[in-house]
Parts: sequence; structure tokens; C-alpha cells
Amino acid sequence: MKILKHSSDLHKYLNQPLFKNCKIGFVPTMGALHQGHLSLLNTSKNQTDVTVCSIYVNPTQFNNPKDFEKYPITLEQDILMLEAHGCDVLFLPETNEMYPNPDALNKHFELGYLETILEGKFRPGHFQGVCMIVETLLETVQPDILFLGQKDFQQCMVIKKLIELKKLPVEVMICPTLREASGLAMSSRNTRLNEEEKKLATQLFQSLRWIKENISTSTNFTSLQKVQIEKLEQSGFKVDYLELALRNNLELVDNYHSGKKYVLLIAAYLGDIRLIDNILI
Ligand code: AMP
Repeated sequence: MKILKHSSDLHKYLNQPLFKNCKIGFVPTMGALHQGHLSLLNTSKNQTDVTVCSIYVNPTQFNNPKDFEKYPITLEQDILMLEAHGCDVLFLPETNEMYPNPDALNKHFELGYLETILEGKFRPGHFQGVCMIVETLLETVQPDILFLGQKDFQQCMVIKKLIELKKLPVEVMICPTLREASGLAMSSRNTRLNEEEKKLATQLFQSLRWIKENISTSTNFTSLQKVQIEKLEQSGFKVDYLELALRNNLELVDNYHSGKKYVLLIAAYLGDIRLIDNILI
């Protein structure tokens, strides 16, 4: 695996005659890698000729500075995992390369409605930061296919919107959420949970599943939502949201109609650790 820290080196490396006509797959991450990340890498390896992963903890997408400070970093282990799973190139940029010009921080992306709900509402500025870094990474790597996880459902929609706004020539492939045997969605932030919290955290997926099993045209979603929010809060969670939305545009709805495609999304704190999850309905 080639490890590169500078955009110019990455550019030079990928533009070698050896890679002419090769399809490039790109898996951007913030490190502290787990099987979920590796499933994206594997999909990229199956769909493309060269897979580039990046690890960069992007400061501009953290609306909460404490969350940024505490974000897990396990670089040595990450490198071993990527190498063992056949990653071709690891891009490890530094902040002075990703944000060389302070003016870049004033950039604004017209995300519209998408930024006013769910993660956008509870993490002001988060998606602007995501767009800043993803635009820069896409310009640097110039992949044919970008691999993203459904775990961050709204982020996938935001990045698709960014690609449309900037007319970037890249295809997006969304990969399913990998879970622990308990149902807990794998996440780098899970490493901050103790054993007891890890057990509790499985309740998020259980709540989603319970709603999926109990929802019908005759049941108002809000009554199911209320039951599960109360249950989670009694167990010690602080729920930011538990919402049902149309899958194609994330319009939030109160009622379910069979025949339409939905996504059920949740975000909740366990102590100071914020977890998110979603399932398709
Ligand atoms: P992160 O390092 O958390 O920024 O995630 C990097 C990529 O991995 C994003 O596209 C995530 O959606 C994806 N990802 C994170 N967790 C999972 C998971 N449990 N299953 C599949 N993909 C995931």
C-alpha cells in the first residue's frame, strides 16, 4: 500500500501511465477504522481497479469542539487494517494542505432544506464542513466512484447534492450499514463506550426495528415515536431526533403510507457520546 501525505504526490502517483484507463475508487474516512469502513474498501476493490482511502479528521465538520478533541485516533492500527485488506493507496493529508487558505472557510454550499433538518438542525455548520472537505478530497483524488456508507444517510444525500452543485464527474455508491451481532451500528465513536453503554446502545437499533415492525397505514407514526423516545430517555439517552422521512428527499412525515419508501432516522446521546443510526422502511 502506498502511503502519501501530499496532494501533489497523490496526483503524480495516480497519473502514472500504469494507471491510465484504470477506474479509481475512493473511500474517505476519519480513521479509527472498523469492519464498516472495510466493507466500503472491499466494495471499491470489487468495483474498481485502484482503491484510494483517506484518513483525515476534518475539524470544520465538528460543531462541538469537545467531540473533535475526543475523536478516536488509531492510525497505526488503521494502516495495518488497510494493508491487510488490500487498499492500494492511503492518503493522509494534513490541515495545512486541506485548508491552505483561510478564505476557504467562508465558502458556502447551497444545501437548502437538507441542511435545516435532522443532523443539519442539531449540528449547525456540520454539513458545510463536510462539503468543504469532500469537495477538496474529490478534486484531489479525482475518483470515478465514491463509496459512502448508508449509516450516514443524510450525509450521502448532502454529498450527492454537492456533486450536483459542483458538477463533479463522479459516481456515488452507497453501501449498507455494518452492525455488531447485537445490532449496534458500527461506528468509530463506539470505541468510547464502556461495556455497559455498548449494551445500552443496542436499544437505538431495537427502537428503529420496533417502529418498522409496528408501523402501518393505520398507525400514526408520532404515537410510535413518542413510545420509543420515552423508552430511550428512561434508559438514560438524550434523544436529538427520531424521525420518519421520505427516502428520496428526506421530507419529514407523520404518517406512513404503504407503497412509499421511507427511512427512519435516530440520533441520541449516551453521556457525551452522540450516536446515529437509520433503517429503510
Ligand atoms: P467516518 O470515518 O465515520 O467518517 O466514515 C467513513 C465512511 O464509512 C462514511 O461513508 C460512513 O458512512 C461509512 N461508515 C461508517 N460506519 C459504517 C458502518 N457501520 N457500515 C458501513 N459504512 C460505515
